[in-house]
Amino acid sequence: MARHTLVLGAGMVGVSIAWHLRSRGRDVTLIDRREPGRETSYGNAGLIQREAVKPHPFPRDLAELWRVLPNRSIDIRYRTGAMFAEAHPLWQYWRYSAPKSFARIVPEYASLIAHCTAEHEAMFTAAGAEHLIRRDGWLQVFRSEDVFEDELVQAAEFRERFGVTFEQIDAERLRQMEPGLSEHAIGAIHWTNAWSVTDPGGLVQAYADDFVARGGRIEQAEAQAMTPNGQGWHLSTDRGDYAADELVLATGPWSPSWLKTLGYEVPMFVMRGYHMHYEGADGAGLNYGVMDFEKGYLVTPKRAGLRLTTGAELNTIDAPPRFGQLEAAEQAARELLALGQRKEAEPWKGARPCLADMKPIIGAAHRHDNLWFAFGHGHQGFTLGPTTGRLIGELMDGETPLVDMAPFRSDRF
Ligand SMILES: Cc1cc2nc3c(=O)[nH]c(=O)nc-3n(C[C@H](O)[C@H](O)[C@H](O)COP(=O)(O)OP(=O)(O)OC[C@H]3O[C@@H](n4cnc5c(N)ncnc54)[C@H](O)[C@@H]3O)c2cc1C
Repeated sequence: MARHTLVLGAGMVGVSIAWHLRSRGRDVTLIDRREPGRETSYGNAGLIQREAVKPHPFPRDLAELWRVLPNRSIDIRYRTGAMFAEAHPLWQYWRYSAPKSFARIVPEYASLIAHCTAEHEAMFTAAGAEHLIRRDGWLQVFRSEDVFEDELVQAAEFRERFGVTFEQIDAERLRQMEPGLSEHAIGAIHWTNAWSVTDPGGLVQAYADDFVARGGRIEQAEAQAMTPNGQGWHLSTDRGDYAADELVLATGPWSPSWLKTLGYEVPMFVMRGYHMHYEGADGAGLNYGVMDFEKGYLVTPKRAGLRLTTGAELNTIDAPPRFGQLEAAEQAARELLALGQRKEAEPWKGARPCLADMKPIIGAAHRHDNLWFAFGHGHQGFTLGPTTGRLIGELMDGETPLVDMAPFRSDRF
């Protein structure tokens, strides 16, 4: 009889895992308190970031810290109370961001990123969701020549080392590609082998529908406790209890409380973010996703309108929302492009699940049998869900995984 596997968490990561395990013949139940893809995997910028070979380190040079300290920048803000509450993981994050450690982390991270488009393609082709995908990249837009030149040097290095592809776009060409951009935009890097998604939550739902079409089950329930049960696991929820041979924890930014209960010391914290949809002014839209790099926000064309997503807010997951960062981003965006009216009464808020060394945990839980971890994908969980699904499938079936998994083990801290 097929082994029964419970996957807890139906974001991009959990749905992709459930899809892969079911495709491999396992009997799989996917559990979430909400419908698939309604939390972090719903509200992100929807980029499948083949170019994102370098994770985001903690700012370390004094000029950068000085810039961030007044708490008014658009790309990163913090709440002092949260800095104390998360002092341990943030201290670790600071240490892993030291140049030597970070130089080791980049190729490890890039080894996962390298597979992101191919692994999404396998899933959206099977799920009939190609119509949600755009394969024409996105634009990293610059306001000053010196920053543009520095970033071009790094882009060229990453092309050489990690196979990212890009084109250097001058001001005139940029105006042809995006006629709506103002004169503040002096050039761009067009990341050409990255993709984007017009409805991120819709893509997760399409993957979940295909999982069900393949014989998988989805249950909507709030998990309350997980306990080892003989060789397997027992999961209590508000809608009843589940028993399984194996359990996969894919609860994104909600993973820390489970880890604590199970006795794991994992330095995890969240970087919150917001989004708002806008009309294009006078019906104008964008042809590409646009990042205003020196300000630190993105505007991407979505089914629901132009979606503005903010950078990082270091705060605890449940603290009340603070809309100042989004308001500042909106003001900067109105200088750059023709942003019209807001389309929602209140911004969406989500939380990127981050580990101190900027890499997710993907693999067997080192203190328990038949428990698997897949969380902590930070800024690129939407990109990396399908790759993670494939890797978990290979690991659970005892196959040689697509990439070396040592950098992603749970016992590395
Ligand atoms: C503003 C912003 C922009 C971003 N842009 C991008 C981007 O362009 N590209 C990219 O790759 N990534 C992006 N990200 C990051 C990406 O969204 C996340 O890394 C990713 O969505 C995490 O997926 P996940 O499946 O791990 O978590 P989630 O999508 O949060 O899924 C976790 C699930 O667990 C469920 N859950 C938790 N606890 C319980 C419980 N007790 N019982 C039942 N269910 C439970 C939740 O309901 C949720 O559905 C962005 C993030 C933000 C905030």
